[in-house]
Amino acid sequence: MNEHKSLRDTKLYVDLGKFQSNIHSISKLIGDRTRIMAVLKANAYGHGLAELVKPAVLAGVSYVGVATLREAITVRECDESVPILILGYTPEHLFDAVVENNITQTIFDLDSAKKLDQISSMKNHKTKVHIKIDTGLHRLGFSDTNQSLEDIWVINKMKNLNIEGIFSHLALTDDESNEVQFLRFSNFVQALEEKGCNFKIKHLADSIATVDYPKYRLDMVRVGALIYGVRGFHKGNVEVELISSLKTKIAQIHKISKGEGVSYDYTWKAERPSIIGTIPIGYGDGIPRNLSNKGYASVDGWKCPFVGLINMDYAMIDLTYIPDIAKTYKDKEVIIYDDSDSSMDISDIAKITGTNKNDILCRITPRVERVYF
Ligand SMILES: *Cc1c(COP(=O)(O)O)cnc(C)c1O
Repeated sequence: MNEHKSLRDTKLYVDLGKFQSNIHSISKLIGDRTRIMAVLKANAYGHGLAELVKPAVLAGVSYVGVATLREAITVRECDESVPILILGYTPEHLFDAVVENNITQTIFDLDSAKKLDQISSMKNHKTKVHIKIDTGLHRLGFSDTNQSLEDIWVINKMKNLNIEGIFSHLALTDDESNEVQFLRFSNFVQALEEKGCNFKIKHLADSIATVDYPKYRLDMVRVGALIYGVRGFHKGNVEVELISSLKTKIAQIHKISKGEGVSYDYTWKAERPSIIGTIPIGYGDGIPRNLSNKGYASVDGWKCPFVGLINMDYAMIDLTYIPDIAKTYKDKEVIIYDDSDSSMDISDIAKITGTNKNDILCRITPRVERVYF
């Protein structure tokens, strides 16, 4: 456990051993011809960016992927040499910092390439870039047109840029549309190679594609969800375990009579005399407010439903059936999620709240203490 003094009972526990063994499982799955990029954007999907960089590098990843310049600089502060790719857009007026911190930038238009080349030249640096191709997602990327072939050829000749890689991103709609994207990508890369471009790292697969479509792994896989043990694949398999659990304690209990309401608006009323526990976690900590009256927390293996509206700082749970709880509640651990059978896991929460698992993880706010072990 890390040393700093804990000031709160509401904690996200992060198992670094599981994190590293997830990476090892992925390595075993893909073999040693394919690199692993650990995608650590969005505060490492809520788990804490700075704390996960070293464990990822020690587990053997060859690249770190992030979304923003701030994230990239945080990674660089943790590791002087690991290659870092900003997977998308960086405003041109911030390119200085990209160059100074030896970060690899995604390029998806000619103008920004010119600008980055110019700044790199002023700083006497050769900046690594990866070219992004839009094969159907329509988020970022050069379209696969003749004009783009010309533009990328121009970039290829820029003195202070080094095109190290080329990539695209799947919409993951179905097998057929994935294959259409894969072929558009392959054909376009081939056309560039015939022109004389040379790409050391071609990459396409995110977590799901890495497991479900072996042929899309190419030279590198970009895995986010999978390294945290979030399972989204459905054809293939890989042994990964959820690395985090969210836990708290009980602040107070209330014995209430039949008919009494709980929390704002009294959206829940007791149908029998009840024992209600107040836990110091709310939507200000990132648990979705629409778990109100739907999900449950676990205490000693008992499922304790959230009753009434979840507040910013507190939620109330029904403890009525737990023997002796009025005497023992101060010692109880309350599990919001982990991967045991008696509690909700990330996919239960995602299902109940109508979103995906990554969304749930990213929402956990900074005031939840992270405990690494
Ligand atoms: C976020 C992201 C990934 C990782 O996605 P997962 O599904 O979490 O593995 C991969 N590639 C790009 C371009 C991304 O933005």
